[in-house]
Amino acid sequence: MSATDKTALTHPLTHSIAPDRAPLDFAGYQSVGGYTGLKKVLAGIAPTEVQAQVKEANLRGRGGAGFPTGVKWSFVPMGEDAPPLKYIVCNADEMEPGTFKDRLLMEAAPHQLVEGMIVSGYAIGASTGYIFLRGEYVLAARHLRAAIAEAREAGYIGNNIGGSGWDFDLHVHTGAGRYICGEETALLNSLEGRRANPRAKPPFPQVAGLWGRPTVVNNVETICNVPHIIAHGADWFRGLSQGKSEDGGTKLYGVSGKVKHPGVWELPIGSSGREILELAGGMKDGYQLKAWLPGGASTDFLLPEHLDVPMDYGSIGKAGSRLGTGLMTVLDDQASLLGTLVNLEIFFARESCGWCTPCRDGLPWTVKILQALESGEGEPGDIEMLESMTSDLWMGKTFCAHAPGAMEPLQSAIKFFRPEFEAGIRAAGRSDHGRGDSDVR
Ligand code: NAD
Repeated sequence: MSATDKTALTHPLTHSIAPDRAPLDFAGYQSVGGYTGLKKVLAGIAPTEVQAQVKEANLRGRGGAGFPTGVKWSFVPMGEDAPPLKYIVCNADEMEPGTFKDRLLMEAAPHQLVEGMIVSGYAIGASTGYIFLRGEYVLAARHLRAAIAEAREAGYIGNNIGGSGWDFDLHVHTGAGRYICGEETALLNSLEGRRANPRAKPPFPQVAGLWGRPTVVNNVETICNVPHIIAHGADWFRGLSQGKSEDGGTKLYGVSGKVKHPGVWELPIGSSGREILELAGGMKDGYQLKAWLPGGASTDFLLPEHLDVPMDYGSIGKAGSRLGTGLMTVLDDQASLLGTLVNLEIFFARESCGWCTPCRDGLPWTVKILQALESGEGEPGDIEMLESMTSDLWMGKTFCAHAPGAMEPLQSAIKFFRPEFEAGIRAAGRSDHGRGDSDVR
């Protein structure tokens, strides 16, 4: 298959990944069409035209929120009056539980991200790019640094790139392992050497981001799509969804839990949960699907009856959840629902940055109540208390999406499986669970 053959290149993100997942070096990446997009840009496409093509392609952010990428870029000040320093930042702090797609891209095809960062940086007139990488992704860091060195050697990073008069530098920065660093403004604080608390928005980073300069923060998978859009065109990219969705392109989907073959697959965006589950070989023998999280721990549970819903941002939203990262987690009929929730909420409570009170105090309190229910020591009123948490720890009452994300699996679990919560309430009397003393920090 020729990588430049527009009809054959149906899996653009993973077509350059070798079966043994050895990373492609510069020559190998070029041999499958790599750097075609960048060369096209440098041959004379204006930055605003690159932005326009990405907008037309209908690429939506693959980090979880699905914000249209071209629209995000269009908020960056451009032209002669624009600030001289602007930044492109790749959010590679992949820490959403059950999510392992960006790791695959960075370990196996590091040049694709490097090319994407250069083209994206060009599109917004950035002088410097940073890949903010999850610290535990040691192999990805090594492969990315090697790819950056090769790209620099080839003249794609540095001064006057390709004779364009544009200078661009690119760095890998490894994080120290906090989930909140994936929130874009906390990430920027961390990159500046500050404590990773989220910042108030607006202003959005596109206007005032890293060191107060215009900054675009995009996810790894999002940026990896950009060179292909430029190389093959917006129409081609939109067509990759094969009519399954109004969103453009392919999507990395995956599944973990009690399935036969957990993994990641690149499919037309809008493929269904059932298709993904079939690729995983279905549930393990002896287990039935009870519920599933469509895209990480911060999404609402869906039921088996939702398996045919297209996995795109709009359709999963209408079904009552969010696409999130698109990596499903299945809950089987033998797992404890309350035990699963305790596990998730301990994670969220521990990862709260503590900046705002509802999140700092509400999440450990939620854990306490769930633990009591799980051990059959719940009190009358506990379910109602949990329900009030799901509205008190919601958007607008917290600084960022951390606590609201934590409430998504909880609120849907109560909606679908209320009898399991009721079964955790003690038959008679109250007991003191010491709920005021929160030790989940
Ligand atoms: P968000 O919707 O607030 O923002 C998404 C992006 O759109 C941001 O870059 C933001 O700057 C931009 N944006 C939104 N509204 C804008 C506006 N009015 N003007 C200009 N720009 C605007 O979501 P978020 O808090 O950045 O991210 C939450 C998502 O992160 C969740 O959906 C969750 O699934 C996902 N998540 C992913 C991981 C991971 O490991 N991939 C980890 C945690 C959370």
